[in-house]
Amino acid sequence: MRYISTRGQAPSLSFEEAMLTGLARDGGLYVPESWPQMSHDDIAALAGLSYEEVAFRVIKPFIGDTFSDEEFREILSKAYSSFEHDARCPLVQLGSNDFLLELHHGPTLAFKDVAMQLIGQMFDVALKRRGERVTIVGATSGDTGSAAIEAFAGLDAVDVFIMYPHGRVSEVQRRQMTTPDAANIHALAVDGDFDDCQAQLKNMFNDFDFRDGVKLAGVNSINWARVMAQVVYYFTSAVSLGAPHRKVSFTVPTGNFGDIFAGYVAKRMGLPIDRLVIATNQNDILHRTLASGDHSKTGVMPSISPSMDIQVSSNFERLLFDLYDREGAAISQLMDDLNSKGSFALSQGALGRLRDEFDSANCSEEETSATIRSTQDHFGEVVCPHTAVAIKAASEVRGNPGIPMIILSTAHAAKFPDAVEAACNIRPDLPPHMADLFDRPERVTRVDNDLSAIQELIRKGINQ
Ligand SMILES: *Cc1c(COP(=O)(O)O)cnc(C)c1O
Repeated sequence: MRYISTRGQAPSLSFEEAMLTGLARDGGLYVPESWPQMSHDDIAALAGLSYEEVAFRVIKPFIGDTFSDEEFREILSKAYSSFEHDARCPLVQLGSNDFLLELHHGPTLAFKDVAMQLIGQMFDVALKRRGERVTIVGATSGDTGSAAIEAFAGLDAVDVFIMYPHGRVSEVQRRQMTTPDAANIHALAVDGDFDDCQAQLKNMFNDFDFRDGVKLAGVNSINWARVMAQVVYYFTSAVSLGAPHRKVSFTVPTGNFGDIFAGYVAKRMGLPIDRLVIATNQNDILHRTLASGDHSKTGVMPSISPSMDIQVSSNFERLLFDLYDREGAAISQLMDDLNSKGSFALSQGALGRLRDEFDSANCSEEETSATIRSTQDHFGEVVCPHTAVAIKAASEVRGNPGIPMIILSTAHAAKFPDAVEAACNIRPDLPPHMADLFDRPERVTRVDNDLSAIQELIRKGINQ
């Protein structure tokens, strides 16, 4: 499988190259040149298999012969042995035909671990084989950073620098990034919001001297390998509930559009998905886009679901690429408009296709709290605020009641204890392996929202 850029001006790459690179050199995102197909029988054969075996079969067509079968099975086994639940991503029944897909049983208690644990192992094997070292720089709204740190801490071939918006992540999130003591891990608190951090990351990728000088690699959700790893749990959950013999729908709490785009990929591969529901908090650019076709940025408003406090939804570009018949020039134009004017308007054709696949709903701060409370009252489940946003959205956009609705539960409630306690009077406890998080010393460098200052810190950090 070859990978092509959404902007049509960068060379096509192998899976390994696309994974190690992150962003394409024309500013676009890498996508597979075609969607691999799983037949009805291929999907039926997934029933009863382990998570790792489903992952093997779903991912294999995307990676081709990057790793031998034996090597890849070993990678998967190492990646998911860090999960606390044997099913890795278990389903919990909520209402009569509503289910929570729990994606937070990994080491940092959020769904980012599902992809990042796998990427850590794949990078390790690929870099050792190539005899290379890379510098991973990431921007995080809270959960990607800690997941990357856990996945790469102590690996020989990588240095990791994580930028997070100073003062805008929860204390648990911050401590998960600032307390690991591996020498190859560096936390940077940037004076700005998440979109600033993400913009600086893109600036670094577009500064080719810097990019080549430090051998920059990205593991943000712009990295194709992340999306790919997330496709797996759409298959495992749908098959548990009767696919391919019956359809299922998904509701996904969305920020950067990486998680729900993986659902779209699963559908393109042949998984019978009825609706994909985009759930946003008050930062609802995607909901507004679906409603009107107008994709316009407003300021980011901090919320109690901070991992979705995003206005520049990077992976949406991958969907646009399909909505515009894979015309790189059209995507370049839209992205130029977004940069220069802060907005673009979808063509009628693209908007129609978007609405054919997706529904959307937004959720206010009050509704998020009320949903945490009502979910606890009715079902005895204490959910994180991001999950609550999705539960609310699913209830609003619930289509055919005969089709199971799978709601993605993206973080453990204990990652956001203040918001959860304020909503339902229960303070969720951290699991035992993290109980001493608040006693560990923190290590972090604060930096202005300034490209050269950040680059300077990275150059120095690598040479330590
Ligand atoms: C990252 C994150 C999201 C949003 O995922 P995207 O892929 O950015 O859409 C939702 N919930 C939690 C807990 C997250 O960490």
